[in-house]
Amino acid sequence: MTRKSGTLSEIFRRRRSLVKIHDGTPVYQQHLHPLSGASLILARTDARPRPVQGRYIVGWLVAESDRLWHYRNFQTETEARQFFENHKKSGPPQNQHFKNDRQVAEVYSWEHSFRLSTMALSVPQMESVVRKLSQIFNMEAPEVVFKPKKRKVYAEADLENNKIIMYRPHLALLLHEMAHLVNDQVNKDKWAWHGPGFMRTYLGILSLFPILAKEGKLEELAREHGLSIAREQGVPASRLLRKWHNQCSNTPHCDPTPT
Ligand SMILES: [Zn+2]
Repeated sequence: MTRKSGTLSEIFRRRRSLVKIHDGTPVYQQHLHPLSGASLILARTDARPRPVQGRYIVGWLVAESDRLWHYRNFQTETEARQFFENHKKSGPPQNQHFKNDRQVAEVYSWEHSFRLSTMALSVPQMESVVRKLSQIFNMEAPEVVFKPKKRKVYAEADLENNKIIMYRPHLALLLHEMAHLVNDQVNKDKWAWHGPGFMRTYLGILSLFPILAKEGKLEELAREHGLSIAREQGVPASRLLRKWHNQCSNTPHCDPTPT
């Protein structure tokens, strides 16, 4: 097999690009990207010999890691700050390093206390719930398939086909999968599957169903489980939910709870 020239050197370049940030590293600027939970950092490197490309460095850092995904070096702080400003919005690279589903176990452990105790839905009820939610999020309603089965996985979301497959009929399972579709389509979150953007979206959807828990209770519990949750600002789905709340609060026809 012939390898396209450049492929290997690309791998080495990437590996070298993880720069360690330690307590003594001067960090000049930091910006948290809400959906992924990663931070864009502008720092000064003390590497010796002095990097020829410059001492100022801008890159992304995964939460609770000290390895900076190195973007670029700069000779001057002004140039570095400019690059920093331009890259705040884009978020970190959508590669395995930033897609790693670090908090999936904590999400399942948090849900364990409530998901199977939520109401069991009929297929028309499932369809009605996703239809109402899709109106709020301004998206096409996903197809819902119910295949009752004893499986380890309770439900699945098929992002590509905008489809939810339910193996158990419980409301919270449906809302979890719906949150995956909303996070993908509305937030365009292509980072961790159960990352901070997913959590904010899921909590927002859960809050529409007061029968599940008192307001704020599930978020409080999630924080106790150590889950990282994006702030509402910067999550497009939260903006749509707020809009819906403003238009719809206290009008019964807007309530997505199945009857
Ligand atoms: Zn999930």
